[in-house]
Amino acid sequence: MRALVLRGFGDAAVEDVPDPIPGPGEVVIDVACVQPSVTECMLLAGAPVAMHDTLARRLVAGPTRFGGHEFAGVVGVVGPGVDPAWKGARVTAVETAACGRCAACRRDRPDACPSPAVLGFTGPGAFAEQVRVPAKTLVRVPAKVDAAEAAAVQPLAGAIHGHAAAGVRPGDAVLVIGAGVMGVLHVQVARHGNAGLVMATGRSPAKRDLAARAGADLVIDAADDVAAAVLEATDGIGADVVFECAGEGTFELAARCVRRGGTIVMVSVLPAGAPAPLALLRERSVALLHPRSGAGGYAPGSGAFEHALRLVERGDVDVAALISHRLAGIEALPEALAITGDKRRYGALGPAQVDVFDWDRA
Ligand SMILES: [Zn+2]
Repeated sequence: MRALVLRGFGDAAVEDVPDPIPGPGEVVIDVACVQPSVTECMLLAGAPVAMHDTLARRLVAGPTRFGGHEFAGVVGVVGPGVDPAWKGARVTAVETAACGRCAACRRDRPDACPSPAVLGFTGPGAFAEQVRVPAKTLVRVPAKVDAAEAAAVQPLAGAIHGHAAAGVRPGDAVLVIGAGVMGVLHVQVARHGNAGLVMATGRSPAKRDLAARAGADLVIDAADDVAAAVLEATDGIGADVVFECAGEGTFELAARCVRRGGTIVMVSVLPAGAPAPLALLRERSVALLHPRSGAGGYAPGSGAFEHALRLVERGDVDVAALISHRLAGIEALPEALAITGDKRRYGALGPAQVDVFDWDRA
């Protein structure tokens, strides 16, 4: 099959690799649609975020496969011990699977597992014509949801987790900083959750328009005095919950916009050594939360994915609005990475998707 192979930072190409073979409890999925995440683009380019050091060590040993956890496809080959009914099913998959063997997993704390398998990160992912995953991570895609939408639900599942982590109470004033993919998804989830007033900030007019259409009551130009606008809209109190989805030095802004005793949820992936307004957080008794890594929670635990797919199926959340660039064929992966890694330059709203095959014609 054809798959993306990484030879060095910034040096990825589609090449021939052996077809994956499912082991016990595993399946191989024919990838119909896949989209890169911004984090993957940063890591592939060599940015010092998240798993950079691990990836750097792997590259010293030679070319490696990396990335591809936001995808949808059709189960092709079913491994030993897997229900054969999965064959032919339209699916996506929870990207993180706890090891099932360590002390944390044995104590029913899979979210504390120190060595979970993460699709595309700890092993080959869906930047390929076929991807091998544990059957326990599979999530069925409803008939009314197409492959492009299904490939885009992983970040939505993450937003659902982030919203739940914040414990948003009925009528809470919510501020979403940043109107990129995660920001717009958080606005939509807040709109369908408990939030009362939903506020959002964005830099570009197109993104602010997207945030407004996603259901934000108040959309603030990021170039304006955001804190003043938030205080005015909340009777001088500040937002009950702030979701930080911009990741560009806006942590301090979040700390000024949140109310005393409020909550900031750090959605953005931050570089090592990113500055934090600790004194301000302490002075204002602000709780700082982080969504747990793994958008679906750790498998088994596909509830957030199933909920995300139902929201899309019912038309409650519009993930298609974020899809501005669709490319045809697996060979377009490097182009999709370039677009997603520099969305501003290409005028992209969300990640560029790659349509590998049409599952309606399969
Ligand atoms: Zn474990």
